[in-house]
Amino acid sequence: MPRIALIPGDGIGLEVVREARRVLEHVASSEGFDIELTDWDLGADRFLRDGITITDEEFRSLDEDHDAVLLGALGDPRVPGNQHAKDILLGMRFKLDLYVNFRPCVLLSPALTPLKDVKGPLRLDIFRENTEGEYTGIGGVFKDGTPDEIALEENIATRKGVERIIRAAFDYADTRGRGRVTLVDKSNVMRHVGGLWRRVFSEVGQEYPDIEQDAMYVDAMAMDLVRRPERYEVIVASNLFGDIVSDLAAEVTGGLGLAPSANIHPGRNALFEPVHGSAPDIAGTGRANPIGAIRCVGLLFDHFGYRDVAERIESAVIASIEVGSTTPDLGGQLSTQEVGDWLLRHFDTALPRTTNQEASDRND
Ligand code: ATP
Repeated sequence: MPRIALIPGDGIGLEVVREARRVLEHVASSEGFDIELTDWDLGADRFLRDGITITDEEFRSLDEDHDAVLLGALGDPRVPGNQHAKDILLGMRFKLDLYVNFRPCVLLSPALTPLKDVKGPLRLDIFRENTEGEYTGIGGVFKDGTPDEIALEENIATRKGVERIIRAAFDYADTRGRGRVTLVDKSNVMRHVGGLWRRVFSEVGQEYPDIEQDAMYVDAMAMDLVRRPERYEVIVASNLFGDIVSDLAAEVTGGLGLAPSANIHPGRNALFEPVHGSAPDIAGTGRANPIGAIRCVGLLFDHFGYRDVAERIESAVIASIEVGSTTPDLGGQLSTQEVGDWLLRHFDTALPRTTNQEASDRND
């Protein structure tokens, strides 16, 4: 029985996780899956109330007593610097060693891309290294506040860290029938770290002779993702480049409200979170799009081996977009909860998924 911790967090995190939870419970009960959900009060309110972000015992429990975490968003204007968000989110990534940040960016409907001319279906599966790079906090300032100030932020790349994320990307391409893996780096300038990435990419790539492989500098990739995104399939990158490229890819495939992500240590634990933040500007208005969080539920079922369930959630989401049953960010008029209602109804009535579009047209 998968044990899942729910951390709604802050702002619209509470609203979107409420809908994701309904989908999770509904699908589990209609498919006969046994899941155990626990609610976690982590976020700005708790920090402001108790002065605690997250304790070591809570990290331990998330790691050892749970199989997965579903997180909404962390970030609150009342907390300067969002220290709580860093402690909780980066803490989980590092302490649970969630080294794969998987961000599938799929164009669910041609109308959703801001690009003029996208040829063919678009699916960019991004594998971002999640535990190294510029995110370890190693560095410091010297003579701060003076004209001679020096600031250092180290870029950490270990053979182990680079190899395991590259291997995860190739394994995924191999098992999901994807034809190309592209490495993103800046090895013309960052020769030491970039050189390690290139060498390991080429070594691991030799184990996958049937998969096309190439490497791009990050600036060229930024250009190409706008010019011809359909050329790419699986992309693997360091922590920082993966962050930037995946935001660009998310925007090209429909925007922040739709994109899910998974932080995974294969075989140990996984944390699922929508790519968007806490969006304080719309929190409490009922305008938050819950699809990113609901697609996280799909990734979660996929992670536990129920790929068909994930695909059915994806089908329901596509159908809702096709008929305009969406929140205002996608041009619709439904509230967060109404989108949740629509998807629950559709998940039940529109299966099997091959016929779901016809069914959605009949039902709505
Ligand atoms: P963070 O620093 O936590 O990433 P941010 O402010 O950079 O936060 P978001 O909180 O994701 O980014 O919000 C960016 C913009 O996108 C805001 O205007 C917000 O209203 C909008 N937005 C984000 N998520 C959603 C959503 N699920 N539905 C609708 N609009 C959203």
